[in-house]
Amino acid sequence: MMHLAFLVLLCLPVCSAYPLSGAAKEEDSNRDLAQQYLEKYYNLEKDVKQFRRKDSNLIVKKIQGMQKFLGLEVTGKLDTDTLEVMRKPRCGVPDVGHFSSFPGMPKWRKTHLTYRIVNYTPDLPRDAVDSAIEKALKVWEEVTPLTFSRMYEGEADIMISFAVKEHGDFYPFDGPGHSLAHAYPPGAGLYGDIHFDDDEKWTEDASGTNLFLVAAHELGHSLGLFHSANTEALMYPLYNSLTELAQFRLSQDDVNGIQSLYGPPPASTEEPLVPTKSVPSGSEMPAKCDPALSFDAISTLRGEYLFFKDRYFWRRSHWNPEPEFHLISAFWPSLPSYLDAAYEVNSRDTVFIFKGNEFWAIRGNEVQAGYPRGIHTLGFPPTIRKIDAAVSDKEKKKTYFFAEDKYWRFDENSQSMEQGFPRLIADDFPGVEPKVDAVLQAFGFFYFFSGSSQFEFDPNARMVTHILKSNSWLHC
Ligand SMILES: [Zn+2]
Ligand SMILES: [Zn+2]
Repeated sequence: MMHLAFLVLLCLPVCSAYPLSGAAKEEDSNRDLAQQYLEKYYNLEKDVKQFRRKDSNLIVKKIQGMQKFLGLEVTGKLDTDTLEVMRKPRCGVPDVGHFSSFPGMPKWRKTHLTYRIVNYTPDLPRDAVDSAIEKALKVWEEVTPLTFSRMYEGEADIMISFAVKEHGDFYPFDGPGHSLAHAYPPGAGLYGDIHFDDDEKWTEDASGTNLFLVAAHELGHSLGLFHSANTEALMYPLYNSLTELAQFRLSQDDVNGIQSLYGPPPASTEEPLVPTKSVPSGSEMPAKCDPALSFDAISTLRGEYLFFKDRYFWRRSHWNPEPEFHLISAFWPSLPSYLDAAYEVNSRDTVFIFKGNEFWAIRGNEVQAGYPRGIHTLGFPPTIRKIDAAVSDKEKKKTYFFAEDKYWRFDENSQSMEQGFPRLIADDFPGVEPKVDAVLQAFGFFYFFSGSSQFEFDPNARMVTHILKSNSWLHC
């Protein structure tokens, strides 16, 4: 009893001096909001103590990660902008962790998929729900070979339902606002399914939560897309109501994402059969199996191969024999297209990209600060306006630059152009046709690309050992 009285006494002055003022209460509720948000969408472990320690490094890192992903100023603090974004309606699928970090890229192994609308929201007439879903399916059908058909009973690939609060998975909904819907990546059972939070006010227009927009976003998940940090993208996690719904379009980021999984619609894969040279527009996509295909530049990047052509590149990894096809600008928005040359210096984890008399340095998908630089800073004579190709010998730490019928050699250790160059390509790489488009080093060979031909050169035997088609790397 004594004990308890003592405690009460001790507490009194503290409690009266701290009656949870408005500001303190708000700070508390902000921290609760942030904690829930980071737990739900940024894989923060449920550990209250950690969050209460204001200086917690992990929390700061998580907040920074969230700010970076959602395009906010990266302060690591719960500033007004950050809290405001945390209150915005959004998709319930996490931005990192949980199922969004499944290894590999889950995708459907078939192009014809079934869907079923299991139940309806009381907010809208049934045919309004049906047509919102159909319109959302069209969005993805238009840019892929995928087709959808509706089922009225039984198990469809994509089961669409409306539910509130706890609804049978481990992601209960949260009442009006905040999380609007979620969807699962491709697969059997629950996978591929879409759940809408029926505590939202679903509408056909922008007066409430627009069903078509949210459905189109969630379908992206059902088809295998994760969240995009591109604020223009449909796959950006925050809900953006559009007043001009009729003008809705997928962003290039969304198109690239879904086409990297399923390719373009059949109509556009037939296009390349038309001889590309007779089509003057120059805006059409290159076809990887066109026998006349040549490359602008080729480089390795962290164990993958990048084949650049016009505004695009193919990315081939050891894990995925089917090359991915992307817009250069989707990965490196500040890089030019129609490149001249590219090579990787492994020891610096950097890929150098050349166009005209300038070059850029990239690390992963980030273009490094301080670029572009002039190619003459590397030691080329002023008469050289551009180079044709480049490759860096990983063991010998020498980089070769090719321009017309000559080549230069650059020492990566001393960071300088070597004496005695340029030399003639024909003298040192006999059998290789001059005017090289791109060079790749692999399996101890140099592969010289010239138009639609590829010369496999053995540097020890100093001879061409094979002549191949340029696109032999793209599984044609
Ligand atoms: Zn989402
Ligand atoms: Zn659910």
